[in-house]
Amino acid sequence: MPDAGQRARGKTRLKRYAQKRDFKKTAEPSSRARAARKGKQLIFVVQKHAARRLHWDFRLEWEGTLRSWAVPKGPSLDPADKRLAVEVEDHPIAYARFEGDIPKGQYGGGHVDIWDNGTWEPVGDFTKQLSKGHLEFLLHGKKLSGKWHLVRTRMQGKQTQWLLMKSHDEAARTGADADVIDAGHAVGGNRARAREGLAIQGQGIRMILVHVLQDVRGMRRDGIGLRSRPVRAADP
Ligand code: MN
Repeated sequence: MPDAGQRARGKTRLKRYAQKRDFKKTAEPSSRARAARKGKQLIFVVQKHAARRLHWDFRLEWEGTLRSWAVPKGPSLDPADKRLAVEVEDHPIAYARFEGDIPKGQYGGGHVDIWDNGTWEPVGDFTKQLSKGHLEFLLHGKKLSGKWHLVRTRMQGKQTQWLLMKSHDEAARTGADADVIDAGHAVGGNRARAREGLAIQGQGIRMILVHVLQDVRGMRRDGIGLRSRPVRAADP
C-alpha cells in the first residue's frame, strides 16, 4: 500500500493521464477513481489496444499508479526477442479493469481488451532499478509468467524507449511457441472471448458482431436490431 508521500506523488504522476482525456466523453476511469483492491500484492495488466495502430499496453502497479509502456509488437516468450516498449503516462490503478471502446476522436480511440493480468514482484530494489533504467521482475499472469526485464535505451524519440525481454527460465519459449500474441483470447471473460470469436475479416476492415451479442444479452440499452461496426483501422 502506498504511504501518504507516495499517494501525493502518484497524484502528480497522473496529471498527464487526466490532461489527455475528457472523462465526459470516454468511459475510462478518471485519475481520481478509487480501485477496489484485494490483497497487498502488486498487480499488472496487459491491454490489447486496437487504436490507430494496434499495440499492447503493459502496466505495472508501483507506488499507487500503473507505470505504463506501449509495446507495438506485444510481448514475446522468446528471450532473444527484444520488444520495443515506449514509456507512456502513468495510469490509475482502476485502469487495470478497463476494457471497452474509447470513442473515435478521443485520445487512444479504439477498442481495449484485457489481454493478460495477474500479480508481479520486483527482483531486487525496484526504485534503484527505475533510476538505473533496468527493471527486473517476476510476472504471475495467465499468459505471461517467470522473470522479465525492461531496459531503458538511449534511442532518441519524443518518448523514452525501453526494451521488454523475457529471461531464460522455465516460462521461456522459442520459435512458434514464443508467439503469445495470437495464441490466446483476451482474459476479460466471455464477452471478450465471444467478441474475438465472432471477428470477421474483410477488405482490411475487421467487423465485429458484438452488438448483436450484447443486444441478445440485454447489455446494450441504446441499440435495437442487428448492427456491426469496425473496431480498428486497417493496420498496415
Ligand atoms: Mn494504448
